Amino acid sequence: MCKFSRLLALAFVALGAVSAQTTVLRAQRMVDVKAGRVISPASIVVTNGYITGVNPATAPAGASVIDLGDTTLVPGFIDMHVHVLADAASLRADIFGEEPAEAALRSSISARKMLMAGFTSVRDMGQNHYTKDLLAVALSKASDAGWIDAPRIVAAGHLITISGGHGDPEMFTRIATSLVDPGPEYGVINSPDDAVKAARFNLKHGAKVIKIVATAGVLSTEDSVGAQQMSDAEMKAVVEEATRHGVKVAAHAHGTEGILAAIKAGVASIEHGSMIDEAGIRLMKERGTYLVPTLALGATIDFNSLPPIVRRKADYVLPLARANVRKAALAGVRIALGTDAPLVPFGENAKEFAAMVEIAGLTPLESLRAGTVNAADLLGTTDRGELAAGKFADIVAVAGNPLEDIRATEKVVFVMKSGKIYRRP
Ligand SMILES: [Zn+2]
Repeated sequence: MCKFSRLLALAFVALGAVSAQTTVLRAQRMVDVKAGRVISPASIVVTNGYITGVNPATAPAGASVIDLGDTTLVPGFIDMHVHVLADAASLRADIFGEEPAEAALRSSISARKMLMAGFTSVRDMGQNHYTKDLLAVALSKASDAGWIDAPRIVAAGHLITISGGHGDPEMFTRIATSLVDPGPEYGVINSPDDAVKAARFNLKHGAKVIKIVATAGVLSTEDSVGAQQMSDAEMKAVVEEATRHGVKVAAHAHGTEGILAAIKAGVASIEHGSMIDEAGIRLMKERGTYLVPTLALGATIDFNSLPPIVRRKADYVLPLARANVRKAALAGVRIALGTDAPLVPFGENAKEFAAMVEIAGLTPLESLRAGTVNAADLLGTTDRGELAAGKFADIVAVAGNPLEDIRATEKVVFVMKSGKIYRRP
């Protein structure tokens, strides 16, 4: 055998080996979210967990073909604001009555529901349940290892809040007399030094994003819904520390002053942003800060089940949020999708796409971008959020065309993550 034909034979062997792990997905349409157009028909080549070709002239030989018919291929959805450990039934964590192992197993079901709804990545915004917060990091590892069917999880660990603030564990459970006084190791701080300690604790235990509570909140028992809680210095201390670790900071913020303070401190995203004003909008645009508006929950929460003080705050803040977020979106603030699940039930996360169109005035394309390519950008990665060669094969097929009817995102018929199929017609 001459040298050339031996090389040729080797090339065929190599090609054969690759083909064995190559899948071609075919569908009537796909959305190129970056270019903002529908391509029809669509074929996507997937090799070893990655997209390796989009509409190639010839299909790779020996590849297995999956024809998804009259569907639209879109990038796997990304939800930037979930609380995977929260119990959907109570909307909060059972801090004292549930073993951590139980919480992890229960939460793995919630994670699976989100994956089956097409959400191949979620950002967990932490919570307020002592040792259990870091279970989101464990779930993230379990997901990456393939132990559970779950989205990729980018976890915050403990959210960082002030003593007595929104997110202080004891402001959710309303313990009359403090049994323990949680400190930075549970995300509760009272100085810039504490703030650094809390950030370092989360980072040490595997957090890939830091969540701060800049202002008061709705689902806790303090009087205000929007008052600034963390000081400017405390917020800056967290952002500086996180930045040194290459990690971004997300700020829960409802009130005008707290929103401004958080943007100035350098956070990557404002969560909720209910009372954002003109100055906040201007500053977010200037700095490229993302807004994660969490709008769908207004239609999914059972308000009658809330304690009176929480109900009063929700009635006050939700209409304001709808009007102000719309102003911000129309002014061109960058938007990323977030649901605050389980406030929107796990598995119904895609309702946020329609909420952003109907309430905030986004176009269906802008809404789809908020839950794909924009969310990837806010995560700080280019490895997902698009159907393009070199990206993770995180691919979803929906019935209908989401650029014509955004509610097509709620009709998921096929889910692939890293080339593995979790749901098919
Ligand atoms: Zn939240």
